[in-house]
Amino acid sequence: MAKRLTRREFIRDSLLAAGGLYLTRFTSLRATAAGNQKPWKWSREAMFYTLTPRGARCEICPNECTIRPGESGDCRNRENTNGKLYSIAYGNPCSVHVDPIEKKPLYHFLPGSQSFSIATAGCNFACMNCQNWEISQTSPRKTRNIELFPEQVVEQCLSSGSQSIAYTYSEPTSFYEYMFDTAVIAHRRGVRNVLVSNGYINDRPLRTLAPYLDAANIDLKSFSNDIYLKLSAGTLQPVLNTLKTLNEIGVWLEITNLVIPSWTDDMDMIRRMCGWLVENGFSENPLHFSRFFPLYKLTQLPQTPVSTLIRARDIALKAGLKHVYIGNVPSMDASNTTCPNCGKVVLERRGFSIYSINLKNGKCAYCGSMVKGVWE
Ligand SMILES: [Zn+2]
Repeated sequence: MAKRLTRREFIRDSLLAAGGLYLTRFTSLRATAAGNQKPWKWSREAMFYTLTPRGARCEICPNECTIRPGESGDCRNRENTNGKLYSIAYGNPCSVHVDPIEKKPLYHFLPGSQSFSIATAGCNFACMNCQNWEISQTSPRKTRNIELFPEQVVEQCLSSGSQSIAYTYSEPTSFYEYMFDTAVIAHRRGVRNVLVSNGYINDRPLRTLAPYLDAANIDLKSFSNDIYLKLSAGTLQPVLNTLKTLNEIGVWLEITNLVIPSWTDDMDMIRRMCGWLVENGFSENPLHFSRFFPLYKLTQLPQTPVSTLIRARDIALKAGLKHVYIGNVPSMDASNTTCPNCGKVVLERRGFSIYSINLKNGKCAYCGSMVKGVWE
């Protein structure tokens, strides 16, 4: 059976072919669920889709895949079964861990606390540098899963002593229904919710979820639409929209920018990105420049030189961002939080551990200035 390409796949494949690159994604993707009469396992009907003459159009993310009966979407965990769209990720996490919140990374949100972290297989991007590609670029049908329903996630979170649940590792937008139901129960039980995402989500599902979110770390992978297309098979504008919406709604937001040699280390682009962030009201949102390690389809590249990360950080500070961190590099001063007024260290970190805190009720212990964040 010939593989039918969506418009997005066509654009990406054309771009990659033009650049001499080759992605092995999407092979036999659309045949995975063929012949199924019943939805797989604990599948739940999707929350955002409409029926069209060509199939179910998923409206969870800007990909807006139109999915015919027996097929699945680009994220590999939304399937059309007998004309209805289902999320097959529901209750099927493949990763469950207790992590320090600093690992997300979130540096201004409940520092030193633990976050109960879950993921299912699936992602709506296809990043060539993905560090979790073994779970993000596959379907829940193919991973080893742990049966865990929303009530159980919250129970396990509480018994682990974690203060929050993080939806992370792969792409939570692709397991939206599972995340949403879990987040609602979590709030009822006094547990906070953390979204770690590529930000590639439509406005309506984002605004529906946001009242249950307490913090988010969104990847801003580059400030170029062309690089988004080539590196991730996505686009830039929806991610910028997500950043604005989260800030507007008041969800605590931190931003991560992975600096990949020859892909996203153009200092002019970083300057434009930081300028946009300051102009749009993000100067007090922490920005994490993260070090790249050769992985997945970019193993031929070197790891990011520390000097590049320092240059990027200097540019961001000069642009007016108040809290700029360097991640994935041990023992750097750039992982401490300083007071934006007096410049003294108010939170000292060693790796993912908190070494000292000089904050009182969210204010600098030296000069009394407010340091933005969710500190308790
Ligand atoms: Zn101060």
